[in-house]
Amino acid sequence: MISIAKPQIGSEEMAAVQDVLASGQLAQGAKVRRFEEEFAEWVGVPHAIAVTSGTAALHVALLAAGIGAGDDVVTSPFSFVASANCALFVGARPLFADIEPAYYTMDPAAIRAALTPSTRALIVVHLYGQPCAMDEIKQIAAEHNLLLVEDACQAHGAAWQGQRVGSMGVGCFSFYPTKNMTTGEGGMITTDDPEIARKARLLREHGAPQRYVHEVLGYNLRMTDLQAAIGLVQLGKVEAWNQQRAENAAFLTERLADVPGITTPCVRAGASHVFHQYTVRAGGIAGGRDALAAALAERGVGSAIHYATPIHHQPLYRDLGYVDALPHAEAAAREVLSLPVHPALSHGDLAHIGNAVADAAQALASAHTRVPA
Ligand SMILES: *Cc1c(COP(=O)(O)O)cnc(C)c1O
Repeated sequence: MISIAKPQIGSEEMAAVQDVLASGQLAQGAKVRRFEEEFAEWVGVPHAIAVTSGTAALHVALLAAGIGAGDDVVTSPFSFVASANCALFVGARPLFADIEPAYYTMDPAAIRAALTPSTRALIVVHLYGQPCAMDEIKQIAAEHNLLLVEDACQAHGAAWQGQRVGSMGVGCFSFYPTKNMTTGEGGMITTDDPEIARKARLLREHGAPQRYVHEVLGYNLRMTDLQAAIGLVQLGKVEAWNQQRAENAAFLTERLADVPGITTPCVRAGASHVFHQYTVRAGGIAGGRDALAAALAERGVGSAIHYATPIHHQPLYRDLGYVDALPHAEAAAREVLSLPVHPALSHGDLAHIGNAVADAAQALASAHTRVPA
């Protein structure tokens, strides 16, 4: 089976971890500082703050900006649940703005429609590795004096008009194993705002500017030097991996162009897409997306659904009383299927994936049109 994701861990990562183990300095230390410096420079911002996960990065970003009870936070209904949960963590209210169906990222017109007098933050999600419509989004944030958070957990290295994601607002990154680069678990906040950076550093470390002096209520959200050592090696490799992802995506898009019922991903003009996922729409496939996924599994091709349930339909949000109608997010949730695109795929794997999709689509179409005896 060709797997949907495959973390790339080589001998350099293993040696880096061994060095840290041998040093005896395991918790947050010099490796974390260096990882922060190099990551900040790579994104193009003066400050980066390492934390335990992408979820922690989103949580700390909102806390550091003072978002809390009584505030509304507009985000995407078509994302991993953490993009909205972080607002709940701080006592704020998440509100949802529907997506652009071609790109799966938040529609600027829907963002404007979702704003309330209490809206203080906008969390946009660069879903699947594709930057959002940042010109309009930056304008909306500026007009309404909103904190702009970029959930870049799927978009390490992606850029909009040549500017890296995570440098246009407060960036939040994840280093979970399936992401474009990993530290096992881990996260990073990027910002050009020294005050947000200072507060984020306090919040991730017990609110303590120095040991045993606690200025504010903080947490323990520190990254370890073991993780940062892996991250430093991965940071040196991620651009080549992203390039390979883009080439793999281009191959699949060309191969699948003529497969009836399949819509291949659209890249926004001006965007550099890093293809965390290669996600097709299978709305035109006989039997639908789930039938296609099953037929691909029979042909040795793994696939995944990101995401089958939009956030406002999750039990947690139903219980909170969310009754929004967000037709584009809901349609995408029914139709999307992610195919393997990771950099470890061989030419043979890619050809097999393309053939399997074409063959599965045809088999499903003929099974569907066959007249029962
Ligand atoms: C992975 C992910 C997160 C959460 O990151 P973790 O490191 O798993 O906590 C948040 N938002 C999006 C869009 C993600 O893909």
